[in-house]
Amino acid sequence: MEDRLSGIAQQIRMERAGNVSARAVDPLRVFFSTMGCAKNEVDSSRMATLLTEVGCRIVDDPDSAECLIVNTCSFIQAATEESIVAVLELCGLPHVEKGDAKVIVAGCMPSRYGDDLAESLTEADQFVPCSSEDDIASIVDRLFPGRLGSTQLSLPLGEVSSYVKISEGCDRFCTFCTIPFIRGRYHSYSFGRIDSDVRTAIASGAREIVLIGQDTGRWGNDLREKGTLAQLLDRLATSYADTWFRVMYVQPEGVSDELIEVIASHDNVASYLDIPFQHSSPRILSAMNRRGSREMFLSLIERIRSRVPGVALRTTLSAGFPGETEEEFSELCAFVEDAELDYVGVFAYSREDGTRAARLPDQLDDEEKQRRAMVLRDVADALSSMVVSRHVGEDLTVLVEGVEEDGQRFGRAQCQAPDVDGVVYVPSGEVGSFEHVTIVDTLGYDMEGE
Ligand code: SF4
Repeated sequence: MEDRLSGIAQQIRMERAGNVSARAVDPLRVFFSTMGCAKNEVDSSRMATLLTEVGCRIVDDPDSAECLIVNTCSFIQAATEESIVAVLELCGLPHVEKGDAKVIVAGCMPSRYGDDLAESLTEADQFVPCSSEDDIASIVDRLFPGRLGSTQLSLPLGEVSSYVKISEGCDRFCTFCTIPFIRGRYHSYSFGRIDSDVRTAIASGAREIVLIGQDTGRWGNDLREKGTLAQLLDRLATSYADTWFRVMYVQPEGVSDELIEVIASHDNVASYLDIPFQHSSPRILSAMNRRGSREMFLSLIERIRSRVPGVALRTTLSAGFPGETEEEFSELCAFVEDAELDYVGVFAYSREDGTRAARLPDQLDDEEKQRRAMVLRDVADALSSMVVSRHVGEDLTVLVEGVEEDGQRFGRAQCQAPDVDGVVYVPSGEVGSFEHVTIVDTLGYDMEGE
């Protein structure tokens, strides 16, 4: 594994060049580069808060930072390569090469590769696995002796929409997935911690809270004071009635009647569920160490739709798993057509070192995996465009998120999650306000409101 990692790092080193200058100032200026998914965004934001509390200033410009932290993703090989590029880019900045700034590699890559990474990426100054991220202040303190200390109490104004993590790790051990090895065993965060993170986000300007974790539907069953995701959502939505709540990554087993009821009964809980099905073939799902079938998933979708009219559903599917036959792949495409989901994320299976699926026979070649992913994506995109176009004529409430360069305002309705599902263009409204519009047109995943 070490040789492979060194090879990738070496190749990327040879492919790239850096060239900017910098300066060092007080207080300690810290720059974050965050790779990967929303869960990493939350981790970066938490580390930034911890560093701000000991007097650091978070900056947007790497050239002016003395401490550069890359929060890496290593879920699949492509993500590892992207993270190495980001690390080497920062290590190649002139002020870093001169020794005026230091680079910290945090997150999934150090968790996955451990000491091998330090031996392969000698340019970086420090490696911080996910499990040590809460110690970031003392780690930075050791790298920059005497620079930390004063507490800055004022909160920076945050995003209109904020991710709040409710758990860490995963126990499901899907055979293709590296997450349980990178992030460790599943553990729920306490209600107190989640409530405090929600309160902080709202105080920073958030009007929507997106609850995330690798397996959100399991929340609470490992706590001393047991709870359920439905109870958590109900408590938060009741306490913060002016804020939207949305829950992502609920595994099919986690979609309980209680959860559906809470989604149906609160106006400020988005009528939206993201349920990763991964496949529709029972044989492939079993090889993935998952459960389900086309019939089970269609019946679950029907159960949700009958209780939450207008609910938007998103899923993630994987094409080209080892041994996937042409027939099973065709069935997967047919499942997408039958389910008529609002949004579908499609990934080509990625053979990852250390996973059980990597050792399975009948691995498909990369070209075939990509071909199947593309075919599935085309089927899903056509369906999604059709489903989204059904919103024409509907009245929707939109949370205004921003203004484009040409002055066009945009936001999201409850049927659209941040970063993945498209936006609604609106004629007016302050950023952070809720606007009521009628949808007059759609283009792909985006909608136009009047
Ligand atoms: S449930 Fe998700 S995070 Fe957990 S092992 Fe399966 S794919 Fe990975």
